[in-house]
Amino acid sequence: MFCFQCQEAAKNEGCTIKGVCGKDDVVANLQDLLIYTIKGLCYVCDKGNYLDDEVMDYIPKALFVTITNVNFDDKDVINWIKKGVALREKIIEKNNLNKEELPYCATWAYETDEDLINLANTKEVSVLAEDNEDIRSLKELITYGIKGIGAYLSHAMHLGYNNEDIHKFIIKAFTKIVDSKDADELFNLAMETGKYAVETLALLDKANTETYGHPEITEVNLGVRDRPGILISGHDLKDLEQLLEQSKDAGVDIYTHCEMLPAHYYPFFKKYEHFVGNYGGSWPFQREEFEKFNGPIVMTTNCLVPPKDSYKDRVYVTNEVGYPGLKRIPVKEDGTKDFSEVIEHAKKCKPPTPLENGKIVGGFAHNQVLALADKVIEAVKSGKIRKFVVMAGCDGRHKTREYYTEFAKKLPKDTVILTCGCAKYRFIKLDLGDIDGIPRVLDAGQCNDSYSLVKIALALKDAFGLNDVNELPIAYNISWYEQKAVTVLLALLYLGVKNIVLGPTLPAFLSPNVTKVLVEKFGISTISTVDEDIKRLVG
Ligand code: SF4
Repeated sequence: MFCFQCQEAAKNEGCTIKGVCGKDDVVANLQDLLIYTIKGLCYVCDKGNYLDDEVMDYIPKALFVTITNVNFDDKDVINWIKKGVALREKIIEKNNLNKEELPYCATWAYETDEDLINLANTKEVSVLAEDNEDIRSLKELITYGIKGIGAYLSHAMHLGYNNEDIHKFIIKAFTKIVDSKDADELFNLAMETGKYAVETLALLDKANTETYGHPEITEVNLGVRDRPGILISGHDLKDLEQLLEQSKDAGVDIYTHCEMLPAHYYPFFKKYEHFVGNYGGSWPFQREEFEKFNGPIVMTTNCLVPPKDSYKDRVYVTNEVGYPGLKRIPVKEDGTKDFSEVIEHAKKCKPPTPLENGKIVGGFAHNQVLALADKVIEAVKSGKIRKFVVMAGCDGRHKTREYYTEFAKKLPKDTVILTCGCAKYRFIKLDLGDIDGIPRVLDAGQCNDSYSLVKIALALKDAFGLNDVNELPIAYNISWYEQKAVTVLLALLYLGVKNIVLGPTLPAFLSPNVTKVLVEKFGISTISTVDEDIKRLVG
């Protein structure tokens, strides 16, 4: 195996024996084969100028399977590969494509699962198939950006929102990845990925806010009640809606975990009396916290950490998530999910062990912040707010991430943190106070709500009569972990945001030459010490 797609890649070079995430070499190689299958499928769609509902359903989900901490189950990944190959063959036949004119990724065949495992072990399907490190770097940068697009598009599609242009872009991009060895063409494609990242984030924002209302200022409880609970993690709001509806009279409480926390900010979910709060911190701490939760846990998306035996029988998965031995939420014929087993399971469990008390305040997505725009603008004009610092992105396991807690604590009192994603858990429970009633930490929501931060920035640019978003008093100190953060980064670059500090390390998949271009064009850098970074970002 060779995998370097996330921030925890071994030695910041790549995992080669087993993933730091827990993914073994069989699954890692099969995930490479799944991406190879998707490339072949996109190739035949491109050549046949073909797109249908089945393709639009398959590609984003199959991409999602390969995101870090989503699926650790070889059987699941094999099934996704088989589905992709079957779809590819159907399209070749339907469009009378000549297999001799197609690349190997679009023509390979298998008979047994063993054939798939053997093919997955070859260099041809691996990241290292591309020998030139700069071309490989650009191709992987685009691929990871598209994985995040696939993930966000899946969520939007669960809510009935879709945009064919995004699918067409994915098809075109993977076809170019197969065909091209031109660094300039691939760099431009990476920037175009940013354009479609923005479109996808906007689509998901529309899907979420039109379905569940605009997030509003909300206090979220961190304590527990004296009834059994179900913990729901990941990002999928449609799953949460179904779980809340099916459990409302069951005598159990529903708690959010990690990236599901911002669901509390949406008006729609406030009507559920048994939707009581958030339990625990960000994903890296789940092995201790899930144990103490005592009840069932539903993983709707990443980040799943390989579970301990002590609570493994309480973890349920759905969508693209998979881990050997974990139970899957059944999907009914009409596409809705049946949470009855989870609910019955919860009833037999003890209430959660309390971890903490208090509240988190959030809900500062674009609509809410723009409703406070006059106050915010006035605070900037009067000098009460000197600077906004975007501290969005992901959390992770490494000790180096303590930097973000220290950075938040040491920021001058006339600065305001704009956050979203699970990066916030490094500082959101600190009491950092407020500026004339404006909290010093404004949480917009999940990682995809970085779109909100962009909308806020663009609105402030107009309000201050500026020409360029980089003239705003906003600095970016972003922490990344998995591929959705790459999508967000490409979106920000596409929108022209400069001087982003990305940490705790720069991606291992960026070659020195590609990094150099990103530094020259966009001023990207990585973290230094807290004091130095406060000096260069805030002054
Ligand atoms: Fe390593 Fe990250 Fe790949 Fe897992 S996803 S194998 S930790 S680089």
